[in-house]
This record gives sequence, C-alpha cells and structure tokens, in this order.
Amino acid sequence: MRLSRYFLPVLKEDPKEAQIVSHRLMLRAGMIKQQAAGIYSWLPLGYKVLRRIEQIVHEEQERAGHIPLLMPTLQPADLWRESGRYDDYGEEMLRIRDRQKRDLLYGPTNEEMITDIFRSHVNSYKDLPLTLYHIQWKFRDEIRPRFGVMRGREFLMKDGYNFDLTREDALHAYNRHLVSYLRTYERMGLQAIPMRADGGPIGGDYTHEFLVLAETGESEVFYDSAITDLTFGDRKIDYDDHAECQSVLDEFTSRYARTDETHDEAVFNQVPEERRRSARGIEVGQIFYFGTKYSEPMGATVVGPDGNRVPVHMGSHGIGVSRLLGAIIEANHDDKGIIWPEGVTPFHAGIVNLKQGDSATDTACDEIYAQLRAAGLDPLYDDRNDRAGAKFASMDLIGLPWRITVGPRGLAQDKVELTNRRSGETVEISPADAVARLV
Ligand code: ATP
Ligand code: MG
Ligand code: MG
Ligand code: MG
Repeated sequence: MRLSRYFLPVLKEDPKEAQIVSHRLMLRAGMIKQQAAGIYSWLPLGYKVLRRIEQIVHEEQERAGHIPLLMPTLQPADLWRESGRYDDYGEEMLRIRDRQKRDLLYGPTNEEMITDIFRSHVNSYKDLPLTLYHIQWKFRDEIRPRFGVMRGREFLMKDGYNFDLTREDALHAYNRHLVSYLRTYERMGLQAIPMRADGGPIGGDYTHEFLVLAETGESEVFYDSAITDLTFGDRKIDYDDHAECQSVLDEFTSRYARTDETHDEAVFNQVPEERRRSARGIEVGQIFYFGTKYSEPMGATVVGPDGNRVPVHMGSHGIGVSRLLGAIIEANHDDKGIIWPEGVTPFHAGIVNLKQGDSATDTACDEIYAQLRAAGLDPLYDDRNDRAGAKFASMDLIGLPWRITVGPRGLAQDKVELTNRRSGETVEISPADAVARLV
C-alpha cells in the first residue's frame, strides 16, 4: 500500500477521552473511531489487524478440528425463554422489538442458538463429537463501557460449542480448546495464562479464563510465578489424543493461578513465598464445561449406543477477538507508539522515502516496494511529500516491525537503513540485502 493512497487518519494530539495506553494509541494511529459509547468503526488499519487476529483464530480452531459456521447477531427471544435466560440475563442484554411486535435480542453469546441448530439436525451419537464455532459481533450493554475496544458494548468474539456423548468426551473437548488457545495467543505474541475462574451467567463450575498480565487489566489475579516460564512453542499435538491434550492441561494448570473470584488464600500460601504474585490481568478468553445445562431444558438429545435418548454434554469457549487488539498493544508498546508482534502486524514493513521527488530515491523505493510485494509481503510505502521527522513519527506510532529508510545520501553508496522497531537497532545495508532480510 502507498500511504498517499491509503486512509490513515493519525492524530497529532493525545485524545482526552482515552485513559489507557492502548486506547490512546488506537485512536492516535487512526485504527478506530467511536460512534457511540462502546461502539466503534474499524478504520482501515484497525480492521487489518482485526482480520489478522481473526485469521489466526480460524487457523487454530480448524487445526483442532472445530468447524466454522455463522449465526446471526439478532436472535429470537423465545429461544432464550426455553433456557430460562431471557429473564435471568439482566440489563446487559439489548432487547429489541420488531414491527410485528416480536421480541428479539442482539446476541450477547450463542449457547441457545447453537443448541437449537444442533437439536434440529443431529440425532445419533454417531454424529459426535462435534464442535461448531463462529466469529461474530456480540452486544452487551455494559454498564461502564471503557478503555476503547477492551470493554466495548458491540465487540467481536469467537465462540465455540462442543457437543459430546459423555462427560469424558466433553472434558476432552475442553482440553482441546485449552491447547488450541495456548497456541492462538502465542502466535499473537501474547502470554495468556489459564486461570481457574467462575462460571458467571454462562454457568458451570469447570472453567478457566485466559489472562494477559497488564497493570491496566480489570481482573485481579493471584499466581505462582513459575507459571510464567511455561510456553507452548511449536510442539506438535494430536488433537484427537485424549492423553496428550490432558497432559498439556495438567502442565499449564498445575501451578496456582486464579482470578479473585476463586482465589483461596490458604491454598495460595502453600506456594513458596518468593513465587507468590498478585497482579492485574486482561481476560482475553474463557472456556467452560457445563454438561447438560442447555441440552436438557432445550431437548438437545441423541440416541446413544443402547438405543436410549440422552442429553448431550456441552461446553462453550470464547476468545475476545476485538479486545485482543487492546491487550496486544498494552503488552507491546513504548513511548513512541505501538510495536506489533510479527504475527498480527497490519503491514510487514514500512518504507520511508526521505526525498520524495528525487528520481533515484523514488526508483529505489519503488523497486523495494515491488520486490517485497513479489515475495508475498505487504509493505506500507510512505510516499507522501512530508518531512522525514513526520514520516518517522507515523511509522513509530503505527508500529510496523521493520522500517526501510531510503535517501539519496545512502543510495550513493548503495545503502539503505533497516531498522527494527522493537530493538531500535539499525543496520546500513544494500537495498537488495534489506529485502532479503525480510523475505
Ligand atoms: P468480562 O469479565 O471482561 O466482562 P466476560 O467474562 O463477561 O468478560 P465471556 O462471556 O467470558 O466474557 O466472553 C468471552 C470473551 O469475550 C472474554 O474472555 C473477553 O475476552 C471478551 N469480552 C467479553 N466482554 C467484552 C466486552 N464488553 N468488550 C470486549 N470484549 C469482551
Ligand atoms: Mg462481562
Ligand atoms: Mg469475566
Ligand atoms: Mg469470561
């Protein structure tokens, strides 16, 4: 993309309404625009990162054998009357009435609807196990929407639902989700720690939340610092292998790590004192096993091997896709701006032309741009007629991992500068070498 043709409305001043750094940087970098409390437009740069995050989520869900579909944002109230949650859910639910006076709601989550799909089409245990998921906008009328996309009212969530014949199979689905989530967050450059949590309005007491440690996090957490040494890395895993998934769960949940809802001082005190930590965290996902809580009242049953109908065992598993942008920035920034992890960066590299209109410099930039694109990369070329300082400031603000700086003086010696955004390290190399380093 050439910046002169792009839409990147960066702000020079710090927006007053932003209380935390990720919100401030997302506004300043022209990624989002607030349209109403907790409701945002995703401007091109923000939308690009959002799609990269979605893509990683899809890839890891499909790798785990989970099947994508898409349910609507609006749901009939009657489904929620069946489960009893229409009245229970409270004021976070946005209720809508159509011209025929039918009650609808903007879905805050989808347990009821997916259970309805399941019961309409699945009859036999032979069709299990089954895990369906989607990435779709949710609405929760949060009492205090704040921190930008971190606590929006309209927000994008991946939510998946498993259907199994037995509790044991459903717990395997739970473990499979835990493993796939570990991989997902690591690919985004995040450490998200699974912590024992509370079921809340989804229900069930078998649940873990995934938390990114950050001072601005809204959750209070307590953990054994040894847990932060664990990484999933690029281990191969057979998602159908119960024992293998169980052993990952055991490894990542055997240390003390709990949110304040389930925190137990007596158990925590058994952790060696020098490893006891209390901190703040951002909840970026949660997994639940809740058995037959929805399948029983809603009649989601299958014929089992013995010919009898039994309600299926279910769980649900959510990732806060739009909240992740905020969490990633909270964990990756400096005083100049965002520092995108390579896995989610909106562009792979920025090209800064120090002397727009100088024909040798323009030609060198065009060539680098074309070569990066030919190699399948997506560079952002700042070809505007602007001061070098302003170009550097925008590049630092939007946080691309690499910057190639091209000017007439360097080119006279066949040199450009390649700068790493995170380390700040700059090397002077030939344009060809700079391209070779990135591809
Ligand atoms: P929170 O405790 O932050 O209110 P939750 O526990 O109510 O979140 P879940 O029902 O577990 O949320 O939804 C799954 C994921 O969706 C959460 O882990 C979080 O990452 C994300 N999420 C929930 N509410 C919001 C929101 N208002 N804005 C952005 N993301 C959200
Ligand atoms: Mg909530
Ligand atoms: Mg929560
Ligand atoms: Mg939750």
